[in-house]
Amino acid sequence: MVAAVEKTHLTGLTPAELVSFAEQLGEPAYRGRQIFAALHQRRLQSFAEMTDLPKELRVTLETISAPSTLTIESRYLSADGTRRYLMKTYDNLPAETVFIPEERRDTICFSSQSGCPLQCSFCLTAQLGLLRSLTAGEIVEQIIIALNDAYGVGETPPRGTNLVGMGAGEPFLAFESLIKALRIMAEPKGLHIVPNRVTVSTAGIVPRIRELATISYRPHLAVSLGAPTDEQRDVLMPINKKWPLAELLAACKDFERSLKRGERFTFEYVMLDGVNDSDEHARQLANLLNRHDLRVKVNLIPHNPAEPLPYQPSSRRRVESFKSILESKGIPAFVRRPRGQDIFAACGQLAARREANPAHA
Ligand code: SAH
Repeated sequence: MVAAVEKTHLTGLTPAELVSFAEQLGEPAYRGRQIFAALHQRRLQSFAEMTDLPKELRVTLETISAPSTLTIESRYLSADGTRRYLMKTYDNLPAETVFIPEERRDTICFSSQSGCPLQCSFCLTAQLGLLRSLTAGEIVEQIIIALNDAYGVGETPPRGTNLVGMGAGEPFLAFESLIKALRIMAEPKGLHIVPNRVTVSTAGIVPRIRELATISYRPHLAVSLGAPTDEQRDVLMPINKKWPLAELLAACKDFERSLKRGERFTFEYVMLDGVNDSDEHARQLANLLNRHDLRVKVNLIPHNPAEPLPYQPSSRRRVESFKSILESKGIPAFVRRPRGQDIFAACGQLAARREANPAHA
């Protein structure tokens, strides 16, 4: 096999790009649209299956391009139905995706980078460091692989599909790939997952929050806070040294002003037992958000432990107390239920033990 690195990864091309790709091969424009539909609507991952293309064209495509570059290395199935995929890129780097079935919809949590350069002390992915940002094609392919595995190749999902950019990596440091992937996935003649179905989470890359505020066709935004003071956030999320809370929340306020009807904007707050979860922390957090005139909802995420991280989740009572203090100060707060913890698929557990309960099909 020729290394995929030299080949064009077709899954990362827009319909217009695929049309010019086809034309460069001396093919009519509709072949480009046909290939786009084969990749994204029929979710085919090999040229051999694209039997509506002439055999000769398939041979040419095979030599110069790839419909798929990710390979599934392991697949883990949780008792709660969550599936976690450990994939490898063409250059042998890890990428992880999590499929979370829910009653009325499925959520696919995708990665934007292999590893992550941010050094959040409570997150396991941080320990890998940054390997590289994923390409648009690699982001889109994660969704194709998860849907095909859950429902069969090309089968229409029985429920709606929501996406969250909360897997490995910082999506706003892979901004170009992310925005392109979102455009490709939104295509009506493709996956047709529109930005309104997507939530992207950032640790607080301020210029990108401001940039997103200027984009009208955009995903929902979530911002990870993790601590109510600069002193503590510097330690838990060192990106805070670059963009401290005052700057971050000022950008959040501007983003809030740009919200249109029906758009969601949330904060996330990981709850670490005995670290950032006291009543005093809750009061500080509420006062901070009120000072910035932000009454954005806060999702409380009890820490998902993973060795060798030195933290434990806050007790249920602590979380409830924290939540009611926020609410008493006018901040809506919700507790997020961890999914797929037994297979290390929950937030901050990606890159954890690979041998746990492999359920390879
Ligand atoms: N880099 C982005 C997206 C990935 S993390 C960001 O930081 O937002 C997605 C969410 O999981 C973030 O809110 C993060 O704070 C949270 N998280 C990270 N590690 C966690 C852990 N071990 N337990 C619970 N939540 C965690």
